[in-house]
Amino acid sequence: MLAEVITIGDELLLGQTVDTNSAWMGEVLAANGVALHRITSISDQADEIVAALNEARSRVDLVLMTGGLGPTRDDITKHTLTEYFGMSLAMNHEVLRGITAWFAGRGLPMLPVNEAQAMLPDGCTVLPNPRGTAAGMWFEVEKEGRSQVIISMPGVPYEMKGLVEDEVLPGVKAKWSLPTRYHRTVLTQGIGESYLSKVVHDWEEGLADRGVGIAYLPAPGQVRVRLSAVSDGAESVQDRVDEAMADFLKLAGEHVVAEEDVTVAEALVQQLIAAGATISTAESCTGGSIASAITGVAGSSAVFEGSVVAYANSVKVAALGVDAASIERYGAVSEAVVTAMAEGIRTSMGTTYGLATSGVAGPGGGTPDKPVGTIWIALATPSGTKARLLQLGNHRGRNVRRTVLECLAWLIREVRTVSVD
Ligand code: AMP
Ligand code: MG
Repeated sequence: MLAEVITIGDELLLGQTVDTNSAWMGEVLAANGVALHRITSISDQADEIVAALNEARSRVDLVLMTGGLGPTRDDITKHTLTEYFGMSLAMNHEVLRGITAWFAGRGLPMLPVNEAQAMLPDGCTVLPNPRGTAAGMWFEVEKEGRSQVIISMPGVPYEMKGLVEDEVLPGVKAKWSLPTRYHRTVLTQGIGESYLSKVVHDWEEGLADRGVGIAYLPAPGQVRVRLSAVSDGAESVQDRVDEAMADFLKLAGEHVVAEEDVTVAEALVQQLIAAGATISTAESCTGGSIASAITGVAGSSAVFEGSVVAYANSVKVAALGVDAASIERYGAVSEAVVTAMAEGIRTSMGTTYGLATSGVAGPGGGTPDKPVGTIWIALATPSGTKARLLQLGNHRGRNVRRTVLECLAWLIREVRTVSVD
């Protein structure tokens, strides 16, 4: 089943609003067996809407549109579609009651322009939108003996998502029988996309014959790998994907930090909970970003005790017990100091693990023997403390993000090794 998306709005073309609606719909539709064939973004102009719609209908039988349903004059999608399908606007009293209740619930007066939002094309099926004042519209028409569905939804992402989940997907599934699609995503860290694909080269060559598709989804410092299969009525798509994934996991080995589609921080929190372990952090160049990543995960209070952002040397000494002489001798960005920081925080917070960072994030502050991007990280554990040197680039924000990721993934591997022992 193929579909197209048309997003409407001047703001999308001016770069003021990023078209997140298309990305979200592409993912959700794919997961439900509907493949997006094309995404088109156009301005709020009737001739553009008509042209885009005609083109899409020449290629596919399902067209999803968002935007242009607001109460203001610049939003013209509803009027354009009413005319396009040769319909007339009529008051929909049920929708009017919904809009009235929406305003009453917020203690706001309802304006005539909002009342006009209940005027809807008389030949469409109205899709109720309890999250806002613009209803969705489902048009069903014949084209060359085939039935086509054109759906118009508001641009507000939260309203659009509600409509897709509550109305569009159930409606599409009732109308067309969709193939079963199954996909599984795992997270790898510390190996670039091209190195990873080299490691799994022979396995990847055989995937097509097994009826499994692969996608590499890279982001700085990490690569998500997604395997997917579509049912052809034969054996279960899930078995097919799971078997191929089992082979991948063996090949990718320790580069895999999570066997499901989660963030590195989420994977770490899950691991620590499972291991009954706790963590605290002492952060210089990451400025609390590791703590922020961990506490961004729901349920992290079970494993995270606290953090000291030890930016100044005096704080490293006073709050973490780092020896001032050691800072003097080796410098703050050194194995000796970062090791003492990790041990200091682990002891003072009484946690299973202590993570520490100290580095030159840049863009200034580099020296010949410690250039920008020189970052020491340390991990204090019940069986001793380890330190590692990262040699990253010149971009401050990226250096911090990469360091956070390295630390989280390092701890995941450490906890995993200990659990296996
Ligand atoms: P509209 O239905 O055109 O009144 O859109 C309402 C609001 O939704 C706009 O002001 C945008 O902020 C947002 N919006 C519209 N289209 C999109 C889109 N494709 N992706 C993300 N946000 C959007
Ligand atoms: Mg708009």
